[in-house]
Order: sequence, then C-alpha cells, then structure tokens
Amino acid sequence: MTQTFEGLAIGGKRVAAANGATAPTYNPATGEVLAQVAQASAVDVDQAVRVAHDRFSTGAWKQMRSRERGQILGRIATLIREKSEMLAQIESRDGGKPISAARGEIGAVANTFEYYAGAVNKIHGQTIPGNANGTVMTFREALGVCALIVPWNFPLVIAGWKIAPALAMGNTVIVKPASVTPLSALALADLALEAGLPEGVFNVVTGSGSVAGNALVTHPLVRKISFTGSTEIGVGVMQQAAAGIKRVSLELGGKSANIIFADARLEPCVESSLWSVYDNAGQDCCSRTRFFVERPIFDEFVERFVARTQTMRVGDPNDEKTDMGPLITSQHRDSVVNYLHVGDGEGARRLCGGDIPGGALAAGNYLTPAVYVDVKPEMRIMREEIFGPVVCIMPFDGEEEAVRFANDTPYGLSGSLWTRDIGRALRVARAVETGMLSINSSSSVHIEAPFGGMKQSGLGREQGMTALEHYSEYKSVFIAND
Ligand code: NAD
Ligand code: MN
Repeated sequence: MTQTFEGLAIGGKRVAAANGATAPTYNPATGEVLAQVAQASAVDVDQAVRVAHDRFSTGAWKQMRSRERGQILGRIATLIREKSEMLAQIESRDGGKPISAARGEIGAVANTFEYYAGAVNKIHGQTIPGNANGTVMTFREALGVCALIVPWNFPLVIAGWKIAPALAMGNTVIVKPASVTPLSALALADLALEAGLPEGVFNVVTGSGSVAGNALVTHPLVRKISFTGSTEIGVGVMQQAAAGIKRVSLELGGKSANIIFADARLEPCVESSLWSVYDNAGQDCCSRTRFFVERPIFDEFVERFVARTQTMRVGDPNDEKTDMGPLITSQHRDSVVNYLHVGDGEGARRLCGGDIPGGALAAGNYLTPAVYVDVKPEMRIMREEIFGPVVCIMPFDGEEEAVRFANDTPYGLSGSLWTRDIGRALRVARAVETGMLSINSSSSVHIEAPFGGMKQSGLGREQGMTALEHYSEYKSVFIAND
C-alpha cells in the first residue's frame, strides 16, 4: 500500500483537519507507515456535528420512505461484499489481523448492514386504549446525532454494529475510530456515499480519544453516545454524558470464564477453547481468559491444551496459514509482557509462551501465547483484563464452586461451559452473571441476538432488534375522540 493522506469524512467530503494536523497509522506486523491521517480537533468535531445535526433536522434521511432507506442500507451491504478483499486488506494491514480472519470480519459487517436493512420497516409503535376519551399512539422516534466511538480490536465489525442500527432508525452519525485503526471506517464512509446515503448522514472524525473523542462526548448537539472500549474510559464517558443527559450505551472490558466439566467431549472442547482465548491474538473483549476445569480431567486438559497452544502459528498476517498476528502496538505488547512479569511474580506457573519472536518477525509486535496454572482467584492476572494471548487455568470441584469462581469478577461479558448434562448446562448458564454464554461452543456473536455486558462490562445491548431500542425513543401522541 502506498502512503496516502486520509482526510476526515464530513458532509460527504474528505477534508484536512482545520489546523492541518496529521498522524501516521502503522502496520503492526512491520512498523511500516500506511497513511497519514487527519487528526480532528474540537473545531473539526464541531463542524462534523453541525453538519450531522443539520442533516438530521432537515429530514433528508429520517423522512425518506422506509423502503428506500432499507434499500440504501442493503446497497451498503452489497458494496461491502463487492469490495470485501480491499476492505479485508485494509483491516489486516492497519490492525495486524490474519488475512483469513479479516475476510471473515468483512463478511460479518455486510451481514450486519443486511440485517438492519430488513429491520427498517419492522419497527413501529402501538395504539393503546387510554383511560381518557380517545386513543394514545406511540411512535419510535430517532434521537438525532449519535457519536459512535470504536476500539481498535475489531474496527469495522464494531463500527457496523453501531452505524447500521443507528441509521436504520433515522439518526445521523459521527464515527470516531480508534487512532491506531482509522482506515476501514473512512473506506466504509466512501462506500456509503456510493450506495446513495445522503451526504452528511454518516461522518467520520479521526484522531485521538482525548481530543476528538472527548470533543464528541461533550458536544451539546450530540444526543447519544455509543462507546466500545475499556471500562476505565467508559466510566469517564458516562460521567461526561451526564452533563447533557445524553443517552449512553457502553460495551466495555471482560474477563470471561470457560467452565469445563469432567463429562465434556474433550477433543472439540480443547480445539474450541484455544480460539476462545487466542482469537485476534487475545485482543477480544469476549476472550475466555479464565478456564475452570473440573478436577478429574484437569491434568489431561492442561496437557492437551498446552500441546495445542505450542502449535499455534504466530506470524505474518498476510500468510493464509497464520493463526495469530502481532499485537496492536509495541506499547500494548509491553503492557501484556508486564502482566507476565506480574503473574510470574505472584507465583503462578507459566507452562509455555510469552516469548518475543526474533528473525523475520522482530519488526512486528509479536508475542507467543502463554498458559498459566497454579493461579489463585486473588492474583492480578486472574482479575484484570490483560487483552493479550494469556490464559489462566484453575481446577474446581463441583457445580456450585464453578459458578462461584466464574462470578468472582467485576466483569460479565461472555463465557462458555462444556458438559453433556443438559440440566446442569442450563442451571449453570442461568447462574453465571454474563451477557452472553455459549454451551459446548465458544461463539459470542449472533447478529440476530442481543450482545452486551452485565456488571462492569457495560450498559445496553448491541445487535438484534434490541439495538434499535438504544437508537430511538418513544413518543406518545393522544388523539381525543370528541
Ligand atoms: P479505549 O478505551 O482505549 O478506546 C476506545 C475508543 O475510545 C477509541 O476510539 C479511543 O480513541 C476513544 N477514547 C479514548 N479516550 C477517550 C475519551 N476521553 N473520550 C472519548 N473517547 C475516548 O479501548 P481500546 O484500547 O481501543 O480497546 C480495547 C478495550 O475495548 C478493551 O477493554 C476491550 O475489552 C474493550 N472492548 C469491548 C467490547 C465489547 O463489546 N464489550 C468490544 C471490543 C473491545
Ligand atoms: Mn494501524
């Protein structure tokens, strides 16, 4: 990829920042600069919000006939599929993802737009017999300008989870991608225009969280903030949103459990559990980073899991056979490596991994996957989100203890459990405090179903018809009979 300049996407145009600021975005596998990207200041954010507010108020999008709106969202899905290789290359290069995984993610983004294209004319109000002499009817009204703040781990997938339902309800949006992975959101904004979305309905401001993100969160014309990122930043976003009574939804961190009972089918469990924690090099909010294995099979599970971990192919994201690419930045790898020092120091036993590969991989932020045993619930590596390829495995005795261990965390995003006992599967699934849970599987995401966290993993839900509730609100209109 030749080094290009990427401007902000405001009002259907690509523009430089008002103060001319730019910053490079890198390929985490090579350190190569991919593009110089405009860095929005509060001035640019204000411009983008005013354009989006104006487009919302003039009704160019909200008042378009519902079928036409759905058709435009459908055309976005079609264009994503047509340009999927280009988008997958961008996502792989900017974020260091294995190309095979990136291709899958772009397919998922198209599915998201397709799902909400179909939802546009299936969301409606009610007529309600009130006590007065007349009828109340409800409308589902769009909110206005929505600020959609996205992390770097699944840049386009997560952007799609926000943009598609927000647009389906008639809102206008400003997307703020993570500063290290800005390219795919900009490419999507271009495709949306090509699909016929009116100018200024979908804008992108690139730049840092502390400047561009903060300017969005505090802008008086922003009505809704949908934030995905760390719990730490999410707390600040929620506090700032309070000042303007802004609607907020938050998708935050996780420390999810993988509970394995002695009657589980071990072969598929080991293979699936591997991806449940190492997918995206462990930089996944739904990553199962705490494994609880029933004592009778603990040794056998650990032996098989470590053996399989050591065959994971860490390397060039361009290689179709690569399982794990680099971590997103060298600073982030330093933070993961620091957790390994913490874990070692706390007395946990590292059975493999945590090595920084040399040779051809020395220029990238690579790290081999690490497995810990002899862990205790109070250790930091068991409590804090590491966001890298590191897993802690601990034995348990009985169902009650498994649930207690799984719930011993401030987070509650995702999780898995493995058993052939259907009664126990349902009892444990209901008892684990988590927004998503899979039985004999590691999947967390179904675009048709609600996705989000309990406890400190978040507020509100994305995906499914549920997401539309977070991009609209009820209006009740009373009609008198006389
Ligand atoms: P982050 O919190 O550092 O940043 C997320 C986004 O917020 C970025 O776009 C960033 O620029 C912006 N931001 C930073 N400071 C801001 C501020 N003061 N005001 C407004 N915006 C600001 O998170 P990250 O490192 O990009 O992503 C990793 C985190 O995201 C992990 O904790 C992970 O668990 C979480 N995550 C959660 C989900 C979920 O659905 N629950 C999904 C993916 C990632
Ligand atoms: Mn990058």
